[in-house]
Amino acid sequence: MIGVTENLKLVKDLLARAARDAGRDAAAVRLLAVSKRQPPERILEAAVAGQRDFGENVVQEALPKIERTAGNDLVWHFIGRLQRNKTRAVAERFDWVHSIDRLQVAERLSRQRPDDLAPLNVCLQVDLDDEPAKDGAAPVDVPGLARSVSELPRLRLRGLMCIPAVRDDFEAQRKPFRVLRELADFIRNEGIELDTLSMGMSGDYRAAVFEGATIVRIGTAIFGERTA
Ligand SMILES: *Cc1c(COP(=O)(O)O)cnc(C)c1O
Repeated sequence: MIGVTENLKLVKDLLARAARDAGRDAAAVRLLAVSKRQPPERILEAAVAGQRDFGENVVQEALPKIERTAGNDLVWHFIGRLQRNKTRAVAERFDWVHSIDRLQVAERLSRQRPDDLAPLNVCLQVDLDDEPAKDGAAPVDVPGLARSVSELPRLRLRGLMCIPAVRDDFEAQRKPFRVLRELADFIRNEGIELDTLSMGMSGDYRAAVFEGATIVRIGTAIFGERTA
C-alpha cells in the first residue's frame, strides 16, 4: 500500500519548488488530486492530510465516491469526456468541469445547475495536438466558445484546460502549455475574464508550472498506479 499522506506531501513540495524556480508564488498553484480508479478510502486519507480538490473522469464511478466522502468539505472537479446524457448529474454534484469543448454541453449544464448552488465553474478544453480523434475544441474556435459560455447564467467561465501528448523533454513539454497561456491572454484581451490554466499532470507538471498553470491535475504521483 502506497502512503497517500507521504506522497501528497512530496508532491506539494515538488510543486512549491517548481513555482519557486519559475519565480512564482507557490500559493498560486492549486493541486487537484485525480482520484479516478482509486477507492474512497484513499480519497479520505488524502482529505485527512488536508487535500480538498479531487478530480474524476467517469460520472458513474464518481457519484458513489462523492456520496461516501460527503461531509469532508471536498471540492469535486469533473475532468473527463462529458456525454450529453450525463450532464444533469455533473451539474448537480460537481463544483467544476474542466472539459467543456462544445456549446451544447455548456448550455445543458447551465440549464441543469440547481438554483441553490453557486454557478458551476468551467474550463474550456483545448486540443493543441492537432490529432482529429482527440477531445477538446480547436484553438481557432476557442475565443468564440469562450464568449458564448461566458454569457450562460449558471456557469462561471474560469479558464482553459489541455492534455497534451506525452513528451519527455522539458522544453518540448512547455510548448503546448505556452500556447494555452497565450490563447488565454488573447481571450482576456477581448474583455473576457479568465483566472485559470488547468494544465500539467504527474509527468509534466513542472513544465506547466513554468508556463503559468494555476491548477495541476495529479493522480499517479499521489495515489500510485490505478487499479483497472
Ligand atoms: C488521469 C488524468 C490526470 C492525472 O494523470 P496522472 O498521470 O495520473 O497524474 C490528469 N488529467 C486528466 C484529464 C486525467 O484524465
